[in-house]
Amino acid sequence: MGKGTQADLLRQRLHACHLSTGDVFRAAGSRPDCQQSPAMKEALGYMRRGALVPDSTVWELVRERRECLHCGGGFILDGFPRTVGQAESLKELMDREGLRLTAVVDYELPTNEIVARLGGRRTCEKCKAVYHLTERPSKVEGRCDRCDGKLFQREDDRPESIKVRLEAYEKSTAPLIEFYKKVGLLVQVAATGTADEICARTMASLKSRTAEQSAWWRNPTFS
Ligand code: AMP
Repeated sequence: MGKGTQADLLRQRLHACHLSTGDVFRAAGSRPDCQQSPAMKEALGYMRRGALVPDSTVWELVRERRECLHCGGGFILDGFPRTVGQAESLKELMDREGLRLTAVVDYELPTNEIVARLGGRRTCEKCKAVYHLTERPSKVEGRCDRCDGKLFQREDDRPESIKVRLEAYEKSTAPLIEFYKKVGLLVQVAATGTADEICARTMASLKSRTAEQSAWWRNPTFS
C-alpha cells in the first residue's frame, strides 16, 4: 500500500521511532474543535483539499517532536520533508543536534497506479487499519476485519483532492529527488507488488547502501 504502511513495516523491522507528519495532522483533526489551535485548523483545511500545509506550521510540529530524532533505535520520518525549504530546515536542525540521515527512500509508481491506490483506500475509523477495495478488501464490505469498525474514505483520497496532491507533489516535492541525489542519500525503490515485497526490496536496498558506505569508510577514495 502507501508509504505509511511501508514506514510502519520498517519501524517494526528496524525498531525505530516512526514520525508521520500526516498522522499528527489527522490525530489533531479528530480532536474536538475547541482543542484545535487556529494554526492547526488552517493546516487541516489544506490537508482536506489535498494541498501541502505551509512550511512554518509543519516545522513547528516537527520541532515539538524533535526528541524522536534521538530515539535509541533511530527514526523514520514519514511524509517529511516534502519541500526543499523543509529539507533545508531539517538539515540545519540535524547539524545542530549532531545527527545525520542514513538514507532518503523514494517510492516510485506510475501515476495511474497511484490514483488507483489512493482512490480505493479505506481506513477503519476505530483502529485505523488500512484496506483497499480491490487489492486488500475487508472480509465484510465496509467493516474492519480486526475490530468491526466502520471503514471510511479519507477526505484527501477523493478524486478532486488526489488531483491537487499530485500537482503539489510535482511542484514542491519532486525537486527533493535532485536535492537528495546530490548529497548521495537517495534510494529509489519500485513500489509495485505487495506491501511485504516492497518492504523486502527497501530493506535490501538499505542494506546494500550501508555495506557500500562501510566499505568506503574502510577504504576511502576521493574523486
Ligand atoms: P500523508 O499522510 O503523509 O500523505 O499526509 C497527508 C496530508 O498532510 C498531506 O496531503 C498534506 O496536506 C499534509 N502533510 C503531511 N506532511 C506534510 C509536510 N511535510 N508538508 C506539508 N504538508 C504535509
